Amino acid sequence: MNKLMQVYGSEAGILAYRIEGHEEHGLVFFADRDGDACGAQCTNCNNILWTSVRSNSILNEKKPDNIPDYGPGYRDYAFSKIERLLDSLPECPVCQIKHYDVFITNFIYPRDMLYPRFEDGYSYHTDNSYPKSIPVDTNDILVWWYIERLD
Ligand SMILES: [Zn+2]
Repeated sequence: MNKLMQVYGSEAGILAYRIEGHEEHGLVFFADRDGDACGAQCTNCNNILWTSVRSNSILNEKKPDNIPDYGPGYRDYAFSKIERLLDSLPECPVCQIKHYDVFITNFIYPRDMLYPRFEDGYSYHTDNSYPKSIPVDTNDILVWWYIERLD
């Protein structure tokens, strides 16, 4: 049994920014470093479905004994977990299509992370420049939250 609900970004540990020079594309969302949220961005409509890192069954599965603790073998395993997590999510509550292509988290190596797209789908490429990001209060921004229930 699974559940989808809307919560305020600030309750869920989700940060939003406007990026200087790219304001016309809307907001870009990230998981708070101290929070428990990770997100999956819909390929079709750019909505982000957020869920709990701590209670997700795939992210918290026991690592098989044949997987090393670090190095390329571990990285392949970690990447496959993210792919399985994206596949495990229900269809997007906004557009009803089930396809997520960006995983948003605060705990993987930055070089493994695709930068989330803006609300309008604009894809920002990090080119070693650091544009000014302006934090936006998420107290009144509703986001979609997925509660995974373990049977
Ligand atoms: Zn969608």
